[in-house]
Amino acid sequence: MYEAKHIAVLGLGIAGVHSVRVLVDLGAIVYAWDDNESARLYAQKYAQKQRISGAFQVVDLQRIDMHGLDFVVVSPGISDSHPVCVRAIQNNIPTVGEIKLRYDLSPDSTFVGITGTNGKSTTTALVAHILQSVGVPCAVGGNFGVPAIALPDLGAGGVYVLEMSSYMLTRLRGMQFSVAGLLNITPDHLAWHGSVDNYIEAKMHIFDRMSDGAVVCTDDPISAKIAHMLHRRGCKVRTVSYTEAAETPCLRGTHNRQNMAVASAICEKLAIDTADIVSACATFEGLKHRQQVVYTDDTVTFVNDSKATNVQSTVMAISCYQDIHWIAGGREKDGEYTALSPFLHRISHAYLIGEGAENIGAFLHKHHIPYTISGCMQQAVSDAYTRVKSTAKVKSTHAVVLLSPACASWDQFNSFNHRGDIFCQCVDNVIRGA
Ligand code: ADP
Repeated sequence: MYEAKHIAVLGLGIAGVHSVRVLVDLGAIVYAWDDNESARLYAQKYAQKQRISGAFQVVDLQRIDMHGLDFVVVSPGISDSHPVCVRAIQNNIPTVGEIKLRYDLSPDSTFVGITGTNGKSTTTALVAHILQSVGVPCAVGGNFGVPAIALPDLGAGGVYVLEMSSYMLTRLRGMQFSVAGLLNITPDHLAWHGSVDNYIEAKMHIFDRMSDGAVVCTDDPISAKIAHMLHRRGCKVRTVSYTEAAETPCLRGTHNRQNMAVASAICEKLAIDTADIVSACATFEGLKHRQQVVYTDDTVTFVNDSKATNVQSTVMAISCYQDIHWIAGGREKDGEYTALSPFLHRISHAYLIGEGAENIGAFLHKHHIPYTISGCMQQAVSDAYTRVKSTAKVKSTHAVVLLSPACASWDQFNSFNHRGDIFCQCVDNVIRGA
């Protein structure tokens, strides 16, 4: 399929290095580049170790003659405005994602794509959990966990359940999902896509070339409009709403009901029995860092929702609880928190950290919600616990200390995973020190 083809790989992270390996194994001649020198060195060492150096060279893709290239595999995190992509597009050289390579390599398998602004990982993991519960061989990847190209070949009967970020959807190039689900659309990642319309256009690619198999949750107006557009294109769309699913102990809140509704409809399209779907949803334990209960006793529950890096996800978390001691802040996206206004009465006190602390404080002040600028996670958890303990004597309600930052983590942490792990450690410290 790729024999003697000349293929460039831009970006040498896990997906890029696996793409190189697969392409060389299939007889391609591969030119690869990463702007980061250590990634280039790693790829070179890997190639030597795997004895694939003959058909692979690290070369600045801005300097090569692109006319001989068949296509460029671009890592998911690299935008079309990267100079190499700009040159490829100018020279009519297709840019593809690593998912397309997996698709070409596993023609007998079924591909399920899941996208949306929020809930992608939870829904992807839930679909895989349902499939596993009835013994269907499946593998989870894409934006969640392992890149698709690094997953094993599942062959006939196997199902790849792929979380698709909007970035990945712009480089599908001729692939088609058997079943694809859209959860919701709220404006996010605008810096990347330039405008809401571009973002919507990117998300719609998940339904490219489809005549059946589309599942769209129409709880928000943009997704409802997309369902309508698909109908008009002649695509048979299954529309769902959060009202179709009931909460389970680990999937609380309307947002999780939305995730269950989409996951269930996807599995129905894959011919899984409804009763099996319902019982599998009940045994799904949820994912780390997404409203994960990390400690609970008679007076307080600590919830780690570190994955809430935007306001919309935080709205979902806050709408699930009462008497909330809210830990928030970090690197702000657009500094706009108005969507929280209808839910602020649920917050007893806020503990603000990171770069966004002052701005969120000013927003809360306007709405008469008390807050403390705690600065860092350890201080915030300790401030929250002290206040909960002192008010527990006069209150009969059960307090919830909720980390749901509504901001990115990069000002103080390496990632949302790191931020959530530190929160869990801090909770452990205050509980053990109590
Ligand atoms: P994604 O992979 O799209 O980022 P996750 O499943 O990792 O989604 O959840 C990310 C955050 O969004 C979590 O804080 C979670 O509580 C919240 N969330 C999950 N599902 C939804 C949904 N359907 N709508 C809005 N927020 C959601």
